[in-house]
Amino acid sequence: MLKLNNVNTFYGNIQALRNINIEVEQGEIITLIGANGAGKTTTLMTISGVVPPRSGEVLYNGKPIQKLNPDKIVKMGISQVPEGRLIFPDLTITENLDMGAFLRDDKDGVKEDMDHVFELFPILWERRKQAGGNLSGGEQQMLAISRALMARPKLLLLDEPSLGLAPLIIRQIFEIIKKINKESGTTVFLVEQNANLALKTAHRGYVMENGEIILSDSSENLLANEEIKKAYLGL
Ligand code: ATP
Repeated sequence: MLKLNNVNTFYGNIQALRNINIEVEQGEIITLIGANGAGKTTTLMTISGVVPPRSGEVLYNGKPIQKLNPDKIVKMGISQVPEGRLIFPDLTITENLDMGAFLRDDKDGVKEDMDHVFELFPILWERRKQAGGNLSGGEQQMLAISRALMARPKLLLLDEPSLGLAPLIIRQIFEIIKKINKESGTTVFLVEQNANLALKTAHRGYVMENGEIILSDSSENLLANEEIKKAYLGL
């Protein structure tokens, strides 16, 4: 479904991604793990078109998308949940969700999807008339995921959904991520610093260091890998 071929991405003179090759199959949850500054966020930004690569290809269902604008990429079925959530604090929850659907013109479908995210996250229904900024961190993460779902993505890009949240909330959010994948068949590309949790959620994982992919394997094998245990799992 998604393929990165020899992708190199720069910020000015700084090379953030070096010859990245990643493949994601439809229906999978894959995770990209790595330390602070490894290049995980840049990888997502490159896929979503926010920071296009200087060279290499990003193929989505076989079509090159690395030169397309972010809104075109969203329309093709790729939605990103940014790190730090970035919801609209002054808009109500319903208005935030409407923003996620702004590229769509199928009113009935939008209504259906809004009902669906309220089913996934009942707390958002209860608070639907409140401003996004009044929600707790966990609820804001739920809202950010829901807003991305309002674009009816086929591929959902999640950047550090666990960041700054309490363990109980993190578990809830990761259960919902698995549910979204299982029930709707949405493919998930998960970037996480919490490697343990990420590998327990994903089918496969890639490990990134200094802008390069140094290893990829099934989550099961990565969880059992001695070097990964030492470097990323704190064991
Ligand atoms: P984090 O978990 O901290 O977000 P990350 O693995 O997502 O880390 P990136 O944010 O992708 O890493 O950063 C990769 C490299 O690119 C880092 O060296 C970072 O300093 C650099 N970088 C990121 N954004 C910019 C920018 N806007 N301008 C210049 N350099 C940047």
